[in-house]
Amino acid sequence: MHKNGLQVAIDGPASAGKSTVAKLVAKQFNYIYVDTGAMYRAITYKVLKNGISLDNDEEIATIADGSHISFEPGETDQKVFIDGEEITTAIREENVTNSVSAVAAIQAVRTKLSTEQKEIAKDGGVVMDGRDIGTTVLPNAEVKIFLIASVEERAQRRYKENIQKGINTPLDELRLEIEARDYKDSHRKISPLTKAEDAVEIDTTSLSINEVVEEIAKNINKVLA
Ligand code: C5P
Repeated sequence: MHKNGLQVAIDGPASAGKSTVAKLVAKQFNYIYVDTGAMYRAITYKVLKNGISLDNDEEIATIADGSHISFEPGETDQKVFIDGEEITTAIREENVTNSVSAVAAIQAVRTKLSTEQKEIAKDGGVVMDGRDIGTTVLPNAEVKIFLIASVEERAQRRYKENIQKGINTPLDELRLEIEARDYKDSHRKISPLTKAEDAVEIDTTSLSINEVVEEIAKNINKVLA
């Protein structure tokens, strides 16, 4: 156990519900929640804003090195900032979503962000979600969860979320985007999306949010007992 509690790592493919349940688990245990995907999205936002080509690794590395990403509690969701500019909603836009896997495949970007993530989590009391938390960022995390769900279910969930936000992307397009991102994230050379050997896999396809939260809480309580 670390000074402030356990390190809880939650990994899995796109739209498997990681951030929704991670936030609730963090609240239940009074731990901090860290959305590492938002950090990769923040760098991607800045790369696109500066008109840098996605195959220009060197320029992207420079952007990553010179950026400061921060989080602040918001009313519903955490607010995300890069160099003081609020980008909470901008990083969820399609242009960022479709480019983030390319940026996240660059070694210098991963080194910079994973170093920051390790630092944030070093005293524990943290729930961190992403793709490589249990395998690379926090290999000694006391609790490792790998969330999966069928592509169909994940596309449906995203579709419903989008409708609520007034976004009307066809279901088929969402399914293709999710599959493409999973493929890129699982096949990159550095820290690809894989389940850590000691992670507990939870298939959320037919579970409610509360059922998933309870299952994770059970795993945490087992370690705390
Ligand atoms: O979690 P989210 O879907 O917001 O993540 C966006 C992207 O950031 C992922 O598709 C992946 O390319 C990248 N990512 C990563 N490692 C993490 C978290 C996210 O490569 N730990």
